[in-house]
Amino acid sequence: MKSTSSIEEECLSCHGTGKINQKKCPACNGTGTSLTEDGQKLLKFLRDSIRTSEH
Ligand SMILES: [Zn+2]
Repeated sequence: MKSTSSIEEECLSCHGTGKINQKKCPACNGTGTSLTEDGQKLLKFLRDSIRTSEH
């Protein structure tokens, strides 16, 4: 079993390297990780909370 958090996963396009053919991976923007569905939900939730608390 993976020990990484469930909100992030290794980018399938570059396999976690962040690069494809020496160029920045467009899928993960060079980070080597991509957000899972849960991660995107969490991010959206956090953004919404920030927005409501700011104004
Ligand atoms: Zn990638």
